[in-house]
Amino acid sequence: MLRDFFIALSQNQFLNQAARKYGLKLGAQSVVAGTNIPEVMKSIKELNAHGISCTVDLLGEFVSKKEEATEAKENILAVIEAIHENKVDAHISLKPTQLGLDIDYQFALENLREILQKASGYNIFVNFDIEDSAHVQPAYDILDDLLREGFDNVGTVVQAYFHRAEEYIQKYKDLRIRIVKGAYKEPAEIAYQDKKDIDANYLKIAEWHLLNGKFTSIATHDHHIINHLKRFVEKHNIPKEKYEFQMLYGFRKDMQLQLAKEGYNFCTYVPFGQDWYGYFMRRLAERPQNLNLVVKQVFNKKTNTIIGLTAGAFILGRMSKRKK
Ligand SMILES: Cc1cc2nc3c(=O)[nH]c(=O)nc-3n(C[C@H](O)[C@H](O)[C@H](O)COP(=O)(O)OP(=O)(O)OC[C@H]3O[C@@H](n4cnc5c(N)ncnc54)[C@H](O)[C@@H]3O)c2cc1C
Repeated sequence: MLRDFFIALSQNQFLNQAARKYGLKLGAQSVVAGTNIPEVMKSIKELNAHGISCTVDLLGEFVSKKEEATEAKENILAVIEAIHENKVDAHISLKPTQLGLDIDYQFALENLREILQKASGYNIFVNFDIEDSAHVQPAYDILDDLLREGFDNVGTVVQAYFHRAEEYIQKYKDLRIRIVKGAYKEPAEIAYQDKKDIDANYLKIAEWHLLNGKFTSIATHDHHIINHLKRFVEKHNIPKEKYEFQMLYGFRKDMQLQLAKEGYNFCTYVPFGQDWYGYFMRRLAERPQNLNLVVKQVFNKKTNTIIGLTAGAFILGRMSKRKK
């Protein structure tokens, strides 16, 4: 239920605007690597120095105005230029709805094509992040269109909570694929709801892709899954060049460093920019303890109490609805 609460909060436009205005100033930087390109480049260089590569995400999603999508595209093009100029070990992650997927398919396709063209000139990889179920098929359709045009510097995500995850992983076996559990609230008709079912499907598709796919990004903070897959790759002699581990910036930092130190390819997902709110609320939905990461800086005692009381009211509301 807390998960539902935080996912509902993640879609609240008023709180989003307020967070955009005040959040980073108050300290959300523990999970966001800066607001501008020089700051994010600095964070990337620090991670690179530990042998960790990065995937850079300009925060922003569910854009409804063409000007905003165009601005996001220009900013992503500038990030690509900066990766090249700074010679850092990094690539791009982006959300198709940030580039106009909700506005017009052709418009989004053109934006994404321009990004892939620029990145391809510098041999930089671009990952299409996958969002909620309403946007899964349109995002894969755009990807298919761009693959047909011959782009080979693009990959995507498969979310293990979907019943169709196995079908997606097989379809995209020749791409670099990031496997995640899935961050959005999805109905039981299309997605597993229990952690044990999601975890089982995660292992099933990850093992399949490790054996049959081009390159697997194992994106999770779950040490059970990581340890299981470490044993799996060893047992099947899967070379280190065929997979990597990925985690989000600021989360389980010790484990990130440890995996890199053990000699595994490790890639940190590095978000930057002002639009951190929806991203962070999804992190709270996954694990309310993540509040600890910013609690001292972003939220004071008063706001924690408000969140606690609102969560309580939300849960009671849900319980009484059920009784009815
Ligand atoms: C690099 C990356 C990219 C992603 N991209 C996408 C995307 O494109 N689309 C999408 O839908 N989702 C994406 N996600 C989010 C993903 O779908 C999950 O929602 C998110 O990763 C939480 O699931 P988990 O696998 O980390 O483990 P969880 O199920 O959240 O955690 C499992 C267990 O791991 C341990 N654990 C987890 N976090 C911590 C912590 N911080 N400290 C200590 N122990 C911890 C706990 O024991 C916990 O019970 C991405 C995630 C990552 C890491």
